[in-house]
Amino acid sequence: MKAYKNFIGGRWISSNSKETFDSLDPATEVSIGKFQDSNGLDVELAVEAAEKSFQEWSDFPAPKRAEFLFRIRDLLIENKERLARLEVKEMGKVYKEALGDVQEAIDIFEYMAGEGRRLFGFTTPSELKNKFCATIRRPIGIVALITPWNFPIAIPSWKLAPALICGNSVILKPSSDTPLCAIELVKILNEAGIPKGVVNLITGSGNTVGTSLVTHQKIHAVSFTGSVETGKFITKNAGLKKIGLELGGKNAIIIMEDANLELALEGVLWGAFGTTGQRCTAASRIIIHETVAKKFENMLINSTKKLRLGSGLSKTTDIGPLINRKAVEKSDYYTNLGLKEGAKLLIGGKPLSSKGFFYQPTIFTNVNHNMRIAQEEIFGPVLSIIKIKNIDEAIEVCNNIKQGLSSSIYTENMQYAFKAINKIDSGITYINSSTIGAEVHLPFGGVKETGNGTREAGWTGIEEFSEIKTIYLDYSDKLQKAQGITD
Ligand code: NAD
Repeated sequence: MKAYKNFIGGRWISSNSKETFDSLDPATEVSIGKFQDSNGLDVELAVEAAEKSFQEWSDFPAPKRAEFLFRIRDLLIENKERLARLEVKEMGKVYKEALGDVQEAIDIFEYMAGEGRRLFGFTTPSELKNKFCATIRRPIGIVALITPWNFPIAIPSWKLAPALICGNSVILKPSSDTPLCAIELVKILNEAGIPKGVVNLITGSGNTVGTSLVTHQKIHAVSFTGSVETGKFITKNAGLKKIGLELGGKNAIIIMEDANLELALEGVLWGAFGTTGQRCTAASRIIIHETVAKKFENMLINSTKKLRLGSGLSKTTDIGPLINRKAVEKSDYYTNLGLKEGAKLLIGGKPLSSKGFFYQPTIFTNVNHNMRIAQEEIFGPVLSIIKIKNIDEAIEVCNNIKQGLSSSIYTENMQYAFKAINKIDSGITYINSSTIGAEVHLPFGGVKETGNGTREAGWTGIEEFSEIKTIYLDYSDKLQKAQGITD
């Protein structure tokens, strides 16, 4: 079994711990490799390497840094199919979705490479004569990137590309469920010629490596994507670092009485069962007008029955496995909880007995919006149907959760659509489309417990990974005081 290493200061090296862990193929439960179970000493080495490289990297003009990013984009295109196959093996999603994940990485490197020739600041008039005012962007310094497993190429790329174009040095800690995807991505960055020490990668547990990064005095910022629970831990322990948090969701699709139900059906199947329900933007609640609920439920049951579970590499598979055994247990726990809470199971509700972490697509109806299955993120293929009487109730139910990431409404009515746009508490609202499918040139993130107000991707990705400096240039040749002070 191959043992993979950490990447520190431009070299592949073993952890000081001398310990390793396995990453499993979730469709077969077979190990695909051994990875360094790193510790705080490894973090120290990575911080040293990042510190040494920072000056040289941040001194490169941004358009020159962009040339590296364009090269990374090209190498990702060359390696797209290979990376997608690896992603299916390590994370389990179906091949076409894995291709989409790699495409997101290609897109974000391309977009952020373009930012190398922008990185805009502002100019604005001074209140005084002969004085010039402007802002410029500067890198933050050393940034820790802590990522989950569900988009194992795209999410690290969403952080690496803006961090690098802004001139930061980084330490990436991927999820222990998908370390190999991160290693293959970092190999591509290395091949593109990123100078030694600018990008470092350490594998290992959140408790040890993650905590060491979050609390390290010389790390200036933490960009984290993962669960609300870990996000709260980081907020408490990171001190005064700049923190970006992209956390969980409990996203809803609203289907109104005038909706095109065929279109809504496609959106619900894609939103609820795409990536086996393991997207932060997955639709886990359907909020539907009572007059069309029965008809829609029948359509949904018929289509769900036809979904085929299996290896993501097989052309006939619609739904791949969950990420690990714990995720199967979690979906099963919530299914049993739903039954206890009095919801009606329409279909599914069981793990498959074969090898691999498979769980049937599961749908509950007669769900009360206060039930735990309608409140808590399950992160599996478990969907709740909640009936409502009108648009105001739909929005109230939609907002009655702790998080606020994505939302969607199916309607032909402009008033309903604009009520949804203006009144739903979420970072993203889709009209007549599912809750999933972000584009990299638009801000991505959520409100309430989904984060701390940062937005990844698009121009806001640059905000997360740069500091603003304000410049006052006085060419009056005398001391001018602001706020009208004259002597
Ligand atoms: P997780 O919080 O368990 O782990 C995420 C990362 O944090 C992993 O690398 C993990 O090792 C690390 N970590 C764990 N404990 C840590 C600690 N104490 N200190 C520092 N790092 C620590 O989340 P997960 O199970 O990998 O991912 C699923 C979650 O991610 C879901 O809640 C999902 O909604 C969320 N997610 C959010 C977005 C978004 O953009 N909003 C995108 C994808 C996933």
